[in-house]
Amino acid sequence: EQNGDLTNLDPSVKVVVRIRPINGQEKEVDRTVTKVSSDSLSVGGRKFTFDSVLDANSSQENVFQLIGVPLVKNALAGYNTSVLSYGQTGSGKTYTMWGPPSAMVEDPSPASHQGIVPRIFQMLFSEIQREQENSDGRQTNYQCRCSFLEIYNEQIGDLLDPTQRNLEIKDDPKNGLYVENLTEEYVSSYEDVTQVLIKGLSSRKVGATTVNSKSSRSHIVFTFFIESWCKQGASSKCFSSSKTSRISLIDLAGLDRNKLEDVGRQHLQEGKNVKKSLSQLGYLVNTLAKETQPEKPEDVPYGGSCLTRILRESLGGNAKLTVMCNISADNRNTSEILSTLRFGQRVK
Ligand code: ADP
Ligand code: MG
Repeated sequence: EQNGDLTNLDPSVKVVVRIRPINGQEKEVDRTVTKVSSDSLSVGGRKFTFDSVLDANSSQENVFQLIGVPLVKNALAGYNTSVLSYGQTGSGKTYTMWGPPSAMVEDPSPASHQGIVPRIFQMLFSEIQREQENSDGRQTNYQCRCSFLEIYNEQIGDLLDPTQRNLEIKDDPKNGLYVENLTEEYVSSYEDVTQVLIKGLSSRKVGATTVNSKSSRSHIVFTFFIESWCKQGASSKCFSSSKTSRISLIDLAGLDRNKLEDVGRQHLQEGKNVKKSLSQLGYLVNTLAKETQPEKPEDVPYGGSCLTRILRESLGGNAKLTVMCNISADNRNTSEILSTLRFGQRVK
């Protein structure tokens, strides 16, 4: 609609499934998931269809081309854009989003393990630079800033200042919901962003991705704000327009249905919070993906948990969302695989 802009024809919610390669503890004969076509797969003979299915041979670059490139174009066109990565612990959520820390600062090459998030910012800053070089009398100024938070047991922590561990969500009549006192860093290059990402991810206490590690029970949300001003004509009588958009990149807590029961009381409570927030997220995204939205904005179910409240400003209005469902292929994980795929189906 807008000036024949094709990006506008993108659906508002896309669901992509990625099957990770088998690991050392798994065997080829136990594989229960098979990719059937570019958008479908089967689990023990049952077929599921999504927007795209990426199999174990897909590279980080393939994922970036599919999700990251349209995201950057939409973000620069002024849309709010988000990626949610969903799946059980060990299914490849963190690998897909950020990649190994050692690959974060590499120049992204097709073969690199670098995740989609650093690739997104490499492209974003090179697009900004290109636009500034080919200005033809029009000049756009950009100001970018970002924040990085963790939701652990329904408490919001600041990954850029780990001394801040119990932040509150406030409602500002003009700018909507925001997290009070959350650190925001101004960034003006890809290198600046990678430094922020490395700092934030190292405060998440990554380490082992086992069901018992804290990182498997926390959601992390990286938010990047782009403000731009476009000046046109001679500097003396220029008129300017401004745009603000945000990119939200969310690595969710593991959906680990059965295993949480034997990890003790403290973890049981955390597990319940994770389960509750993931099911409220499913309900929210399901509502947002419907062709007709509730008449009253207050009927969109943002209220259920810290996560859904935090995402209100990112997912509302004409925002674009990609849900990345990460699965393994091993039949010991069939129940988690099916529940991940069901989440993906519900949001379509
Ligand atoms: P999660 O964040 O869902 O718990 P991780 O991203 O930590 O899972 O992945 C678990 C392990 O599997 C890690 O060692 C990771 O490097 C590896 N892995 C996941 N996906 C892939 C992939 N597509 N290619 C290669 N290794 C992968
Ligand atoms: Mg992880």
